[in-house]
Amino acid sequence: MKIVMLGAPGAGKGTQAKKIAEKYGIPHISTGDIFRANIKGGTELGKKAKAYMDEGKLVPDDVTIGMLLDRISEADCAGGYVLDGFPRTIPQAESLTEALRKRGEKLDYAIDVNVPDASIVTRMAGRRACLACGATYHIVYNAPKTEGVCDSCGEKLVLRDDDKPETVQKRLTVYHDQTQPLFQYYEQAGILKTVDGTQDLNQVFSDIVAILGA
Ligand code: ADP
Ligand code: ADP
Ligand code: ZN
Repeated sequence: MKIVMLGAPGAGKGTQAKKIAEKYGIPHISTGDIFRANIKGGTELGKKAKAYMDEGKLVPDDVTIGMLLDRISEADCAGGYVLDGFPRTIPQAESLTEALRKRGEKLDYAIDVNVPDASIVTRMAGRRACLACGATYHIVYNAPKTEGVCDSCGEKLVLRDDDKPETVQKRLTVYHDQTQPLFQYYEQAGILKTVDGTQDLNQVFSDIVAILGA
């Protein structure tokens, strides 16, 4: 099963993608997590990406597309995957479609986790992230068992630099300008499914399972 998660920054794509990955036994691939791991590791790719991320801008397609296409060529992706945070532009979506077409494959679902902008800024202020394993928490809606510590791997949780309200606003603008056109793209491909992302996160997941099949 090959799935793309769509939705605004902070809509809950990562939270749901992790649950999907676990239930269906497929890798969760987050381009944001790959960039953050590279920043942490001090790689050239990380240095390039950081400047854009700190500004709330997208990392250029020429960096991002190659990185993602390499990742989905790895052996663990043979049985499918859930992409979280990619594609974010029409050229990214087209490159993915084309790469899959060459292998006689296609995406099965594009799931839109729908949350209005007004809810996003509060959500982001309460988000805490584990940079080691990519898990995310919320201080109110999805608190870790021990404050400030990742349930999955025990690392310290952080408030991401780009989750400050000023940067979140910029990211929302970028989202509306560059990512929103993907809805029409996947609608035309006949694979767009929308879930109400303002519900409790377990209810959002039940709605997704109803789409994907139990
Ligand atoms: P969010 O939680 O807002 O969905 P991500 O972790 O997916 O955030 O992405 C964080 C940042 O990483 C983005 O604001 C952007 O700078 C960069 N990024 C992640 N994925 C992509 C992509 N597909 N194309 C360009 N930039 C990306
Ligand atoms: P994205 O990957 O789309 O940027 P995340 O999955 O990281 O979003 O979620 C953003 C923040 O909102 C996190 O703090 C997360 O714990 C919280 N969150 C996710 N889903 C819900 C939900 N259904 N209700 C309330 N908070 C949620
Ligand atoms: Zn962790």
